[in-house]
Amino acid sequence: MTILRTLLWFVAAAAAMLGAVWLAERPGAVTAEFRGWRLDTSVGALAVGIVVLILLCIGLWLLYRWIAGAPGALLDGWGDSRRRRGYRALTQGLAAVAAGDGGEAQKHARKAEKLLAEPALTLLLSAQAAQLAGDRDGAKRAFTAMLDDEQMAFLGLRGLIGQTLRDGNQAQALAYAERAFQLRPQTPWVVHSLFDMQAQIGQWKAAQETLDSGLRRRVVTHDKGRTLKALLLVERSRAAERDGSAADALALAREAFGLAPERIAVSSRLAELQIKAGDGKRAAKTLERGWALAPHPDLAELYLKASGETEPLKRVGVMRRLAAQKPDDIESHLALAQASLDAGLWGEARRYLETAGGAHPTVRVCRMMAEVEERAHSDQAKVHEWLARAADAPADRAWRCSACGAHHESWRSVCESCGAFGTLHWRAPGTYGQVLPPEIRAELEFATSPTK
Ligand SMILES: [Zn+2]
Repeated sequence: MTILRTLLWFVAAAAAMLGAVWLAERPGAVTAEFRGWRLDTSVGALAVGIVVLILLCIGLWLLYRWIAGAPGALLDGWGDSRRRRGYRALTQGLAAVAAGDGGEAQKHARKAEKLLAEPALTLLLSAQAAQLAGDRDGAKRAFTAMLDDEQMAFLGLRGLIGQTLRDGNQAQALAYAERAFQLRPQTPWVVHSLFDMQAQIGQWKAAQETLDSGLRRRVVTHDKGRTLKALLLVERSRAAERDGSAADALALAREAFGLAPERIAVSSRLAELQIKAGDGKRAAKTLERGWALAPHPDLAELYLKASGETEPLKRVGVMRRLAAQKPDDIESHLALAQASLDAGLWGEARRYLETAGGAHPTVRVCRMMAEVEERAHSDQAKVHEWLARAADAPADRAWRCSACGAHHESWRSVCESCGAFGTLHWRAPGTYGQVLPPEIRAELEFATSPTK
């Protein structure tokens, strides 16, 4: 390329020289007259003069361009370096956040904020840095400022929801969650948080709308949505009963049972209302179906109530009918043992408890054995032996939260420990792994929980 250009230059120079020689060899005169001025010159001199004039014009034009363009170029260079320093500060800030150094991150965040006029970029760093450094006000300021930016508003809301929840300001957290839900109703954590918050303060209908929206957008799986809806209906049935509307309460409980008969809270709720309505036969059918899917001592108690039987020996027969729905379950053996104990059938009670306990009797089995020996007037040494065994025995099934593992005395729809809805299951301990961090566990639970 360079060689070609040099060659072209040589050709041009040679042509110019030949032209000049040609002109010089052919002398001719040029005369110009202008307002009394007269110019006599040769053609060659005039040609040289014109070329010099053109070159001078080009030179002047280039000089003007250089002078006029200089300040802009200078400013451009300065701005470039300012932005570069800003991005460097931003990068260092992000690295400090990743390393968990809040103070350092805040220092870089302030620098980046000053150098880069891009709040969308720097606000996030400022918020994270403030959070890390424990500067709650600073974090709140940054998150609130994000709300003004369309792109950042959702992120700001997420930060504010977390912060207001930690502050215990539920009403404000709910308001933020509702706003986040309007922005992105398809985001799982938004649906999850809003649903739990609404359930926590007993807004059952609003929670059901959130759940329905989550189901439509496939944020909540069909199976999970079914059981959650059933539990919401149980709560609505309780509320209807409190308001004095027994018919509504029963209708809602029936709807819940149609959705999730395998949830103990659902079957016991419907049976309870059926007994109250004087329909013991229907209640018994409900409980038999519930027992086959998920047996529980509450259901056994309701079954005896539904039968209306008061004669202890006949109550054993009633309990046999219920236990037959799931004969191999420990709850069936324990329910029969309890009925036998109440009827004074010590031998039978012992037999049922031995079957229930197997090689490693649980606390409940050991305590019931001690009661049998006590009431059968056996050796006191036997009673003490069972009570001693109870101290080291494996724990029984109980109401345990599948999200946080908390233990509850009785069933409730919202976990008292972590606030999750519908996570209490009648289970033995150790049936849930505690390997995943709580928030992921909660999300997994929300999306794919086993029913029961
Ligand atoms: Zn919990």
